[in-house]
Amino acid sequence: MAEDLSADVVIVGTGICGSFVAHEMAKAGLSVIMLEAGPRIDRDEVVENWRNMPPHNKSEYDYATPYPLVPWAPHTNYFPDNGYLHVDGPDRTAYMQGIIKGVGGTTWHWAASSWRYLVNDFQLKSTYGVGRDYAFTYDEIEPYYFKAEQEIGVCGPNGMDIVPSAPRKQPWPMDSMPYGPADRRFTELVKPLGFENTPVPQGRNSRPYDNRPQCCGNNNCMPICPIGAMYHAVYHAQKAEALGARIIPNAVAYAMETDAQNNITAIKYYDPDKQSFRVTGKTFVIAANGIETPKLLLLAANDRNPRGIANSSDQVGRNMMDHPGIGMSFQAAEPMWVGGGSVQMSSITNHRDGPWRSEYSAIQIGMNNTAQNSRAGMKALSMGLVGHKLDEEIRKRSAHGVDIYVNHETLAHPDNRLTLSTQYKDKLGIPHPHVYYDVGEYVRTSAVKSRQHLMNIAKALGGTEISMSQNFTPNNHITGGTIMGKDPRDSVVDGWCRTHDHRNLFLATGGAMAAAGTVNSTLTMAALALRASEEILRDMKHA
Ligand SMILES: Cc1cc2nc3c(=O)[nH]c(=O)nc-3n(C[C@H](O)[C@H](O)[C@H](O)COP(=O)(O)OP(=O)(O)OC[C@H]3O[C@@H](n4cnc5c(N)ncnc54)[C@H](O)[C@@H]3O)c2cc1C
Ligand code: SF4
Repeated sequence: MAEDLSADVVIVGTGICGSFVAHEMAKAGLSVIMLEAGPRIDRDEVVENWRNMPPHNKSEYDYATPYPLVPWAPHTNYFPDNGYLHVDGPDRTAYMQGIIKGVGGTTWHWAASSWRYLVNDFQLKSTYGVGRDYAFTYDEIEPYYFKAEQEIGVCGPNGMDIVPSAPRKQPWPMDSMPYGPADRRFTELVKPLGFENTPVPQGRNSRPYDNRPQCCGNNNCMPICPIGAMYHAVYHAQKAEALGARIIPNAVAYAMETDAQNNITAIKYYDPDKQSFRVTGKTFVIAANGIETPKLLLLAANDRNPRGIANSSDQVGRNMMDHPGIGMSFQAAEPMWVGGGSVQMSSITNHRDGPWRSEYSAIQIGMNNTAQNSRAGMKALSMGLVGHKLDEEIRKRSAHGVDIYVNHETLAHPDNRLTLSTQYKDKLGIPHPHVYYDVGEYVRTSAVKSRQHLMNIAKALGGTEISMSQNFTPNNHITGGTIMGKDPRDSVVDGWCRTHDHRNLFLATGGAMAAAGTVNSTLTMAALALRASEEILRDMKHA
């Protein structure tokens, strides 16, 4: 007979959002079941897979291939494209997102840049008359930001006066790590152009923290930190397990049951052989990331909720956002030695906010600090060189190669929409996600100026062999698809990530974010998950 699966809190997804909620619930003594579509991931195996990956994949920054790809829980992979995520529209290249399915989720191969959004990012509509407002102000999320920084272990530029920046009541848990040679020199070279290049707050240890070692700066963060100095969510999944939470790996949630009050009563999942199981609970949390959360809600449509769970507003899957990027690479006149330290050490932040946001998007500019050796090697080989000449060319290109990016804020637009593919299904018969994406005029206007900024930087560094991406690139900051708002008619969740339609259903995901800001979004997602946790615990107390 099938086991009776039931818990106070049932969570779908073991990424940072799901694991943060699970940890808070388990700490409070509640019973927790976590359903995870993918398998458990073994760090040593991923490190080995990365070492053995073909040089071409490494030079193209392929971070997905080292991770196990199982047929019942496919994630995106583009080398070659496994066709899991279908994107069309004028800017399809800008939405080819990276996600990992497995215990711990996508932060296994993030870069750990852990930014707070600015005060105005939360009130975009009220301040600049465009986009949407969050259902709360910066002041209301500030304590959760700090808690998220403590849980992750964020190092940041304590004592530096950076403008604009988000006001802090407490210092970062750790001080920043020292720049490597490239970040130091880049900061000097762009200053005369009016660019303030400042340290990125990072979820990696500048000193031993939370039983994990200090970062040794070997630049392997994407696709995996071999020593665990970079935070990833498996740490919180394990902490929750140690407190009694149960993780069921290889469990693909696909349906939800509702009662007469439209509360959720059960979630159903498939195992890899498509056997179906049912889990009952008091509160349910979907934390399946910005793509899979709206997909699951649409898939789980039932008689009472024919447009999908939590979708009376028809906003589930709409307003998909990210930070469309433009990339530029070149050979600098002097050796820069990119690659000392972690992969994202610094960033130009003084274009993150300003009055122009009423007309075009704010931007973040930065230099990727990803070591250039794989690219240098591929290029030198393609030149037909051998022996000493090959060696010299690789050394030269590794030292002089530079990658710069500009990331743009996008506005929530209902036409940027995720739907269930009518053509493609996975091994379990579940439709693949399909996204329509158009970055819009707000971004396109800004991008004209961004290209000029990039050219100015290339000039300041004496760049040759300049190559700039013509299409927008994705940044994996998947936001908006289950958007937050005060009005149930045009939003999916409230300011606590509770769905308007189902009292006991919370969505802990970047999908809840109402505006994309300019910077990496996971710290904000983590803070939202902590806010949702507090609300769930309040509910439980009153129940
Ligand atoms: C290469 C790369 C670099 C990045 N760098 C940064 C960075 O520097 N800073 C930053 O802020 N962000 C970064 N990001 C983004 C960051 O990784 C994500 O924002 C974050 O991991 C999202 O966390 P999550 O918990 O919402 O989702 P995930 O971590 O994706 O976890 C969701 C989990 O849900 C599971 N799941 C999905 N569907 C189901 C289902 N039906 N049933 C059961 N389980 C399911 C998945 O298997 C997955 O394990 C990066 C992303 C990539 C790809
Ligand atoms: S630089 Fe090395 S030690 Fe530091 S976080 Fe990245 S991979 Fe880990």
